[in-house]
Amino acid sequence: MSRVHAVIHWSVHFLSPPFIGAGPTTADADRATVLDAAGDPIIPGSSVKGRLRHHCERIARALKVACCEGPQADMMCPHYYFRSSEDAPTPVAGYEHFFCPVCLIFGSPWLASPLHFSDWSCAAEVGVDSDTWQALEKTALRTGIGMNRYTRTVQEQRLFVTRTVAPALPAVFKGRAQGFLPADLGLEALLYAGALDICRIGGGNSRGLGWIDRADDNSLRVSVGEKGSEQPMDRDALGAGLEKLQEVFGTQNSSDGGDAE
Ligand SMILES: [Zn+2]
Repeated sequence: MSRVHAVIHWSVHFLSPPFIGAGPTTADADRATVLDAAGDPIIPGSSVKGRLRHHCERIARALKVACCEGPQADMMCPHYYFRSSEDAPTPVAGYEHFFCPVCLIFGSPWLASPLHFSDWSCAAEVGVDSDTWQALEKTALRTGIGMNRYTRTVQEQRLFVTRTVAPALPAVFKGRAQGFLPADLGLEALLYAGALDICRIGGGNSRGLGWIDRADDNSLRVSVGEKGSEQPMDRDALGAGLEKLQEVFGTQNSSDGGDAE
């Protein structure tokens, strides 16, 4: 099986402060966003990976491309292919293992992901000098209340404090993911489409945290090719790749489409 090297570069500005609530409890906050050794906020690669997988599953389903149903291990590949239900997909012809496109990219309990995700680290935006950056508070406390779902009133004793990335921090978050994907299956296009679909990251969805500025065209670049000479994918490559994906993994009963050429 031939493989192609795929690299995703992110350089992200947030419209609202992100919050990855996996940091330690501190004296002043019930939950804190994750920090690196220098005390600067980061977005862990595992959080990026989980979010991206979710979006790739969404895209795959929209394209009627079969993919398994995590996170329960017995519903994930390769077991997914051994069910005898009518909607179970046909394994890729000649393919040595039975894995859906999402598991081929992100792994399953029985298949290691070929991609490695680095943490997104934060750096000063262009135009912010290093002294100013050093002096900035990178995180801020934010109070919230717990609502009682039935009475729709504030629950007693339910004030909580979280430490998020500071609002309006003049920062750009940079990170990457890379690895060798099985070639000629359209997987890199699914990866790209999933990355384009991400509009927010981290916890605090209902409180509006972690929205990404998607008007910034430089925030995402996906390159593929031989290692060291990858070329950025454009929208044409994306479209062609998604067609390939449907051709290889699409459910068979899609009678229209597929024979457009
Ligand atoms: Zn799967």
